[in-house]
Amino acid sequence: MENAVDAGSTSLEILVKEGGLKLLQITDNGCGIAKEDLPILCERFTTSKLQKFEDLGTIATYGFRGEALASISHIAHLTVTTKTKDSNCAWRAHYESGKLAPAKPGQTPDPKPVAGRQGTQITVEDLFYNVPTRRRAFRSASDEYNKIIDMVGRYAVHCNHVAFSCKKHGESSTSIAIQSIASVVDRIRHIYGGSVANELLEFSTADDRWGFKAQGWATNANYNIKKTTFLLFINHRCVESSNIRKAIEHTYAAFLPKNGHPFVYLSLEIDPQRVDVNVHPTKREVNFLNEDEIIQAVCEHIRSKLAAVDTSRTFMTQT
Ligand code: ADP
Ligand code: MG
Repeated sequence: MENAVDAGSTSLEILVKEGGLKLLQITDNGCGIAKEDLPILCERFTTSKLQKFEDLGTIATYGFRGEALASISHIAHLTVTTKTKDSNCAWRAHYESGKLAPAKPGQTPDPKPVAGRQGTQITVEDLFYNVPTRRRAFRSASDEYNKIIDMVGRYAVHCNHVAFSCKKHGESSTSIAIQSIASVVDRIRHIYGGSVANELLEFSTADDRWGFKAQGWATNANYNIKKTTFLLFINHRCVESSNIRKAIEHTYAAFLPKNGHPFVYLSLEIDPQRVDVNVHPTKREVNFLNEDEIIQAVCEHIRSKLAAVDTSRTFMTQT
């Protein structure tokens, strides 16, 4: 999904078979990949997202390490079908262990011309077919599907102006279907339901001292649920932070009944030079400078929003 968004896509379609273990396919309408780049696409450290050394300081895209496709090609059957604007046909290539591979034994590994629309389709089949212990570690396809839906849902909320669909192979009904024009609140309504979407406050704050901007939507004091739903994006990447989660829960404790928790979608943009995304191989944990100050500023802002609504609660109107 991150690669598709980096490629300027406005539509992402995700197709899943057996919780993604049999098939996980993402089709986008982005810029596509040039045919000349296909032979090296799945080699390690192949990225189009760093042009020069200095770019390392100001990374604006999701990727830049060139490891995702390379890794996948080692543990699954990977097929890439792609068409750029300037190409008169699409090209399809299969990969194994970082290299182009024939579709069937005896065929050449070269990319083959096929019919197709502009954009890229990444097809991952038989995940961990060659690592049985890892494969066995997946207990249930439906658990895995739920994790996929959870992650697609998060990006669908965050990637405003992008259409998302996600469904199981062979089923006509979609689990997620969001149009590109849907507002953030519409997106939250579709994925997390009306009870959340009807009680949202928008917030937005920034502080140059700490080099950050924060914005998002959070439920007001009328809403509470047993467990916090926390969507956190730092520089447009979905990440985890138990420090931020705890601070937000603490902020809400003053407004919600005991054991009540909020829904919060927070998009933090931090000056890239202050962020280290390389603490964890999956990049799900992020370190940044002045973490305490930033967390405090964001929580104080949310607290003031909640307090403002709380005093005027009886007069609240729907907009
Ligand atoms: P990274 O995102 O870190 O560059 P990846 O392994 O995820 O590394 O992708 C390698 C390269 O393949 C990208 O830099 C990009 O040039 C190309 N690529 C991957 N997915 C897409 C896509 N959906 N559309 C266009 N280009 C893509
Ligand atoms: Mg990537």
